[in-house]
Amino acid sequence: MIVMKFGGSSLESAGAIQQATSIVERHLDQNPVVVVSAMGTTTDRLLEAARSAARGNSYAAWQQTEALRRMHSNVTRGVLGQRAEPFLRDSVTPLFRELQVLLVELSEGRPFTPEIQDQAVSYGERISSLIVAEALRHAGIHAAQVDARKVIVTDEQFTHATPLYWDTYARLRRTVALVARDRVVVMGGFIGSTSTGASTTLGRGGSDLTASLVGAGISADEIQIWSDVDGMLTCDPRVFAGGWRMREIGYEEAREMARCGAKVLCPTSIEPAMRQRIPISIRNSRRPEIEGTRVVSKPRSLPGIVKCVTCQAGMSVVHLRVKNRGMLSSITDGLADLFAREHVSVDLIQAREQGITFAVPDWPGLSQVLRKVDESVEIAVEQDRAAIWLVGEGVASDATLKRALGALSATDVRLISQGSSSLSLGIAVPESDLRLAVEALHAEFFATPDGEVFAAPEFAPLGARQPAYRQSHPRLALGSQVVPAH
Ligand code: ADP
Ligand code: ASP
Ligand code: MG
Repeated sequence: MIVMKFGGSSLESAGAIQQATSIVERHLDQNPVVVVSAMGTTTDRLLEAARSAARGNSYAAWQQTEALRRMHSNVTRGVLGQRAEPFLRDSVTPLFRELQVLLVELSEGRPFTPEIQDQAVSYGERISSLIVAEALRHAGIHAAQVDARKVIVTDEQFTHATPLYWDTYARLRRTVALVARDRVVVMGGFIGSTSTGASTTLGRGGSDLTASLVGAGISADEIQIWSDVDGMLTCDPRVFAGGWRMREIGYEEAREMARCGAKVLCPTSIEPAMRQRIPISIRNSRRPEIEGTRVVSKPRSLPGIVKCVTCQAGMSVVHLRVKNRGMLSSITDGLADLFAREHVSVDLIQAREQGITFAVPDWPGLSQVLRKVDESVEIAVEQDRAAIWLVGEGVASDATLKRALGALSATDVRLISQGSSSLSLGIAVPESDLRLAVEALHAEFFATPDGEVFAAPEFAPLGARQPAYRQSHPRLALGSQVVPAH
């Protein structure tokens, strides 16, 4: 058995769903279990609608849900043709109606709790899984939709729930593994429920975690993550197009890349697969002929090679200076707790004699958190920073740092951190320098990449026929080369 997870961008249009269907069809001999995200940007749009309702703007909430309903109906018609109407009437419309009722209640004053937020966004994956299962049936494939909330059991940390592993694995074995023997099971990713039945979500990007959980629960031979990039690339193509594809990476490397901004995988998705040594393949649903990147326990590469330049914009660098050094550890512990409660990760930590400096995402609650720090601590915040990491087994060395600083001699590097493991080395730069800094680092570390470890970018040939849905993805022209916009 294998798990095939399709992300939102692989399901954003009728063409994309047909492409996903044909990819599944090619893997039928491996008994696939399909995990799907919400279509396109549905989760963001559901959140927006729920927030409009919570502000009392019921008209805006209604308009936003109507637009989503129309988008889902049009895509379904594009896939199912004449079969669409009865399916929409019986399966999709009732769910949108339920959602509308929930939003009306919110606009009338029902408290907008994290629990209600999860209930509202769960409709994205619940609806997309119904549509994909029907698309598979339309293509002649025996498929069954399973409500993920019945099998993925979590704690009660709404919006960032943690799976209860043993309970979830037992349910996966009892239900999904059995049904998958003679049918393609389709489940929504990202969503689960508490043991008392309240809908929960696993944190943004959490469908990757669902795929890994399902893989571990059914002891799959492989977990495939189908996205809109050729694999794990040496750089986010949205920041610098033309990065190389890694052929194979280790689980810890993949987790560090994901933690440091390579959002093609969510960091929590590595653990369940790693524990059972199930390989994860990252593939491009738009170019299924490309092998992708395999995440395995022992990749074929030597330590010390920088494999990825990851980055995250929208950061602040915070400097804390204490008068009494003895206070430092209690202050940092207290701050770590406050940030953890907000689900904010602190990075690039650099401890000094009289204080500590670190980077955190710049979000509206930052100043409130910092106000809770003891008044005797001097605090300075630099906004509009970006973090950049060099990631790879064994890269956190003085030699790598020296090369990085040489490449960035024209950039105002503010903070350097060798990380808590040997897997990464991070720096902070002004956000306005981000692209140039990433390009300079990429040029330094990938001038002559090892062909055993990296594959050259596989550009689509000029004039090559693209599936119709690609037309909505503009392609960037760089000189005479055409670079696919990921
Ligand atoms: P999906 O909808 O398939 O879950 P995501 O948007 O979550 O897709 O993840 C895919 C995106 O991850 C890509 O479009 C790309 O911009 C981003 N990304 C960031 N860093 C990397 C990287 N190093 N390699 C590949 N993709 C990356
Ligand atoms: N739909 C969810 C999100 O947008 C989960 C996912 O795509 O993995 O975060
Ligand atoms: Mg994702």
